Amino acid sequence: MNFSSDTSAPAHPKVLEAVLAANSGLESSYGNDRVTRCLRGQLATVFGTDDFDYWLTASGTASNALALSCFCPPTGAVLCHAGAHIAVDERGAPEFFSGGGKLHLLRGPDGKIGPAQLDEALARINHDFVHETPAHVLSLTNLTENGTAYSVAEVTDYAARAHASDLIVHLDGARLGNALVSTGASAAEMSWQAGVDVLTFGLTKTGAMGCEIILLFGKAREKKRELEARAKRSGHMPPKMRYLSAQAEAMLADGLWLDLAAQANGMARKLADGLVARGVSLAFEPQGNEVFAMLPDDQVTALRAAGAVFYPWMGGSQRFVCSWATEDTKIERFLSVLDA
Ligand SMILES: *Cc1c(COP(=O)(O)O)cnc(C)c1O
Repeated sequence: MNFSSDTSAPAHPKVLEAVLAANSGLESSYGNDRVTRCLRGQLATVFGTDDFDYWLTASGTASNALALSCFCPPTGAVLCHAGAHIAVDERGAPEFFSGGGKLHLLRGPDGKIGPAQLDEALARINHDFVHETPAHVLSLTNLTENGTAYSVAEVTDYAARAHASDLIVHLDGARLGNALVSTGASAAEMSWQAGVDVLTFGLTKTGAMGCEIILLFGKAREKKRELEARAKRSGHMPPKMRYLSAQAEAMLADGLWLDLAAQANGMARKLADGLVARGVSLAFEPQGNEVFAMLPDDQVTALRAAGAVFYPWMGGSQRFVCSWATEDTKIERFLSVLDA
């Protein structure tokens, strides 16, 4: 009954098969290999456009920090939610990679930036006032850190407001698949069509071994060379990139990534419904593969004693994360512990 994180899940067998299939013959290095080049066609299909560039890394933190550093100068700031992964879970990587860029933390319920908070922050930007740190980027996360989803309409609205203040829009999509399944939106609708300029597209939590893709859309493509240079300098230019790309190839083929995200979301739904049916209240409406439950201490103790693994979260809730590998029977057993 391991609900600690979707990173606890194994990689999907098809990912390993693709890695094995890529493991033959000599290949060009540093992203010039056949597998990485073929990925362009798949990404073009998934995102419904040819107007993009891409880069692969093995961690979401590296992807976020590299992506943000291309758009936020050392004297600038990134607007993000106070609970954003870039703010609380990356040990200062965005600030480090940008050479001192500041994160400007915004509030809002359910892990989402509030519209008024965004407007207030945008109105404060003043490049002529030397003492304040002007924002250059708006960073949104979908699925959010509270397991809620921004709709396409919300992302579109926020991106338009940010663009009106000359900001670049970054989307942290470590759980993009979960958000797409839950909102019914396509990858195109939730990214460049909504105004997202740079996307960190996570496949690790969805079912890869370790594969995250940075996508630069449209005008953001002018940062391609800078992104590559920063990747090299920071040690994120894997010589044998074909093995990262093979993972992405397997995940994107036939929509496997969305099937796995749907599976994870379905398990979270089942867990959430079971908790609510037993009178447990949820801290947030589950719109992906994460459930945040307000469990009394005695139930937490009983669940832990029965072998359930999960973490306490901010605000007094307990976080339960489901993945493609979460089994029905584990959820049933978990709920039976509560019944007992
Ligand atoms: C997991 C996660 C990441 C990436 O984390 P890594 O452990 O560095 O791969 C980034 N953003 C969000 C919202 C996440 O949940």
